[in-house]
Amino acid sequence: MKNIAIIGAGMTGLSLAYNLQEHNITIFDKSWRPGGRVSTRKHDHLLFDHGAHYISLNHNVSQLRGLLKQMNISKEVEINFLINFKENKISKKRIIIGNNGMNSIPNSIYNSLNIKSYFNSKIIKIIKNKNNLFNLYTEKDEYKNFNFVLICIPYIQAKELSSNILNISNNYEPIYDPIYTVMLSYEKNNNIEVDGGLNLNNNISFYMKQNIKFPKLKNENWVINMNSNYTSKNININYKDLENYVQKIFKKSFNIKQLPIFIKAHRWLYAQTKTSYNDLSKKSWINSSDNKVFLTGDWAIGKGLTDAWKAGLKLSHYIKILDI
Ligand SMILES: Cc1cc2nc3c(=O)[nH]c(=O)nc-3n(C[C@H](O)[C@H](O)[C@H](O)COP(=O)(O)OP(=O)(O)OC[C@H]3O[C@@H](n4cnc5c(N)ncnc54)[C@H](O)[C@@H]3O)c2cc1C
Repeated sequence: MKNIAIIGAGMTGLSLAYNLQEHNITIFDKSWRPGGRVSTRKHDHLLFDHGAHYISLNHNVSQLRGLLKQMNISKEVEINFLINFKENKISKKRIIIGNNGMNSIPNSIYNSLNIKSYFNSKIIKIIKNKNNLFNLYTEKDEYKNFNFVLICIPYIQAKELSSNILNISNNYEPIYDPIYTVMLSYEKNNNIEVDGGLNLNNNISFYMKQNIKFPKLKNENWVINMNSNYTSKNININYKDLENYVQKIFKKSFNIKQLPIFIKAHRWLYAQTKTSYNDLSKKSWINSSDNKVFLTGDWAIGKGLTDAWKAGLKLSHYIKILDI
């Protein structure tokens, strides 16, 4: 049994924790909860999945699907989806969602693991000590003597955090797309025919009704994603201006008569990458020369939460064959 530190309790870190349970695992996250970009936000009685929206049926990772079924924490639903707003062609789309919002998926997996964890703990430094083991540091605390350190955070941050121990000599410089999400709620049902869709206009790439996810919601809730082009161009926009803009477009598009009761924007700086590390190198992680420190995440394989799970699963297989 080895002491393994996992930095990041998103789907990648949780996949590693799940697949390396026979070891002594400690997981660190700078946030107060597990799940990372699989995030469900609560504002009073309103609920929004404002990170990952769903698991696509096309993105099948059998271990994760098996676990979701076995733990009974997700459901497959059919939604009315508008691929192109102008053409007004509604199609049926089957997706997988968490039983209680998307974050209930990582949260339930995390709770089933019963591992040592430190939340609100941003790791800012990793040092190899004189016993060739690793110490981790937050602003205030020190955590000592890990045999392995698995860094499961967005690539740009991972590279910076490990720069003193890993000389990363590859050409991989992914462009991270930032995305604004806007949470919007109306008191009454607007009787909109669709549950979601793509490309509402040139700036809004995606929108989804939240009531299908949270059937007990009394109000009508939406999450709207601005595309990365718009977000990059307006990276410092005043949130009030963005919220007003989105509300206006939404009102006009769906002929809404009432004013929203709640609206809030959020910026994801590292939402997703266009190209994966695997596209460049055919590898699914980056390792130190002594095979003790590893970097992986969704960026290593693709840009969805199933890619994150797969990245963790693949690295866990490698760690198992390192004869530890
Ligand atoms: C708006 C949006 C919509 C999306 N929609 C979908 C979708 O519909 N379907 C889909 O499959 N995917 C979707 N995704 C992508 C999906 O959410 C990600 O691919 C997946 O969640 C990434 O998981 P991860 O564990 O690799 O990274 P993350 O979820 O980013 O986890 C990294 C964790 O590391 C922590 N961390 C970072 N730095 C440190 C540090 N120094 N010390 C300690 N902890 C640290 C963070 O707090 C975070 O919890 C979406 C993403 C966004 C932003």
